[in-house]
Amino acid sequence: MHADFVLLPGDGIGPEVTSAAKQVLQRVAVEFGHSFGFDERPMGGRAIDEYGDPLPQSTLEACRHADAILLGAVGGPKWDDPNAKTRPEAGLLKLRKALGLFANLRPITAHTQLIEASPLRRDLIEGVDILFFRELTGGIYFGDSWLSDDGRRATSVMEYAVGEIERIVRLAAEAARNRRNRLTSVDKANVLEVSRLWRRVAARVMTDEFPDVDYEVVLVDAMAMHLISRPRDFDVVVTGNLFGDILTDEGSMLPGSLGLLPSASVGETQPGLYEPIHGSAPDIAGQDVANPLATILAAAMALRHSLDLDDEAQAVEAAVAAALDAGLRTRDIAAGDPSVGTAAMANAVAEAVTRER
Ligand code: NAD
Repeated sequence: MHADFVLLPGDGIGPEVTSAAKQVLQRVAVEFGHSFGFDERPMGGRAIDEYGDPLPQSTLEACRHADAILLGAVGGPKWDDPNAKTRPEAGLLKLRKALGLFANLRPITAHTQLIEASPLRRDLIEGVDILFFRELTGGIYFGDSWLSDDGRRATSVMEYAVGEIERIVRLAAEAARNRRNRLTSVDKANVLEVSRLWRRVAARVMTDEFPDVDYEVVLVDAMAMHLISRPRDFDVVVTGNLFGDILTDEGSMLPGSLGLLPSASVGETQPGLYEPIHGSAPDIAGQDVANPLATILAAAMALRHSLDLDDEAQAVEAAVAAALDAGLRTRDIAAGDPSVGTAAMANAVAEAVTRER
């Protein structure tokens, strides 16, 4: 097949890690007989410097026409002035909104080779493989909010409409069918009216459209505990914006290796946006020490979720596992001295795509 990727390297280590992921995608194309196009566009701080806009119109247009978008990271001290007219992160928010990306997917996977890096005991973390679906464009972050005239009282409204709940529950349930067939919906229905609506709508979607998927509901406070005490019991988890924000950050600590965690934002029809969860790490930019594996795994998610190339995605994931099995470690995941830098890790994963096939 032919597919067009837009690459948004961004700032800091962004260019290094996106270039690593591109190298791996190019190897996938050769091995599996596909043709992938790569169109690199400015975004973030670099785009502010060049165009005065963190998301230039030409970048947005290119993204609209892509099959998938791969982002490095944006931001850095140079653009941190709180009084600045615009900031790099504004480009990211604008892109998500313009493309209608309402679902944020965050896999929390324990890599066997890095179990010792987890703050959890081996018997708790081993085998953990969770896929979070966090609603991204609604809820309390986008509801009305106001401060009283005397400045002594403030309100933020959490609101969800039926359609917003249905579409993300459907996406999550479909993903569950392709995994271990289990979906957990997280809410606070014992207290919040908006959560009672969420629970009713989710239950109806599951009964009517996904009766074959094993479905449960869990209260968000209980979920915060279960994530630590029995994380292996969860497969796909779907929740609203606020709860998802907090739970995915909690979850991202479990594997103990930030440099390995990818994320995706997807909508109904537009191309998905794939990125590592880490930032632009300006402290290590340009030194060939950044871990490229999160971005490489984000590329694997793009293959699976935007291009429907599951075998190819699995080949990339197996190649990452093979590189770790071979003992390759960038500085952030090395117990002692690192054995490889960014470029060497990318080469090793690309080689492993060929070998593991
Ligand atoms: P960060 O994730 O960039 O860095 C935190 C620490 O982790 C640093 O010590 C860094 O060196 C290390 N680190 C991060 N990614 C790594 C990798 N792949 N390999 C090895 N080490 C890695 O978070 P921060 O320092 O809070 O933020 C730096 C900049 O990134 C800020 O400008 C922030 O606004 C921006 N940021 C951007 C995004 C995004 O683009 N989606 C997300 C978070 C932060």
